[in-house]
Amino acid sequence: MAATTMPLTNLLQKLKLDFPHLTFEEGADFLWSPEKSTVTYKKEGDPALLLHEIGHAQLQHSEYTRDVELISMERSAWEKAKELGAVYRIVISDDTVEDHLDTYRDWLHARSTCPSCTAVGYQTGQFTYACPACSQEWRVNEARVCGLRRTKL
Ligand SMILES: [Zn+2]
Ligand SMILES: [Zn+2]
Repeated sequence: MAATTMPLTNLLQKLKLDFPHLTFEEGADFLWSPEKSTVTYKKEGDPALLLHEIGHAQLQHSEYTRDVELISMERSAWEKAKELGAVYRIVISDDTVEDHLDTYRDWLHARSTCPSCTAVGYQTGQFTYACPACSQEWRVNEARVCGLRRTKL
């Protein structure tokens, strides 16, 4: 995208007026923080992602206890983003949505794979999985964006 385009600036101005209860903060990535009611955005970022975070905010997404819940939250936030896209004239393609959901599916796959025998495990707690094949249990870290760690228990 050319440096002269300013869709995010204009969009942000409108969003700040339309969502006065939310705080908008420039940062390294797009994020929704339910604790602070803050949407973090990248200055040169994709407007679709900004609307996606507003989607999380509107749906009041916060805690999730099972990883599959996070994926369903992601999907519903994208549905909301598409509705917002119609309002703010931002086209969000199905490819954009599927690409982003894929990163979550990959993340889920990596977390749920048994570190001992690579069978698909089942989640036993917010940060723990167990293997149905070899009974190995393992712990996963919370952050989706940070490097994935699996620690054998
Ligand atoms: Zn999201
Ligand atoms: Zn196993």
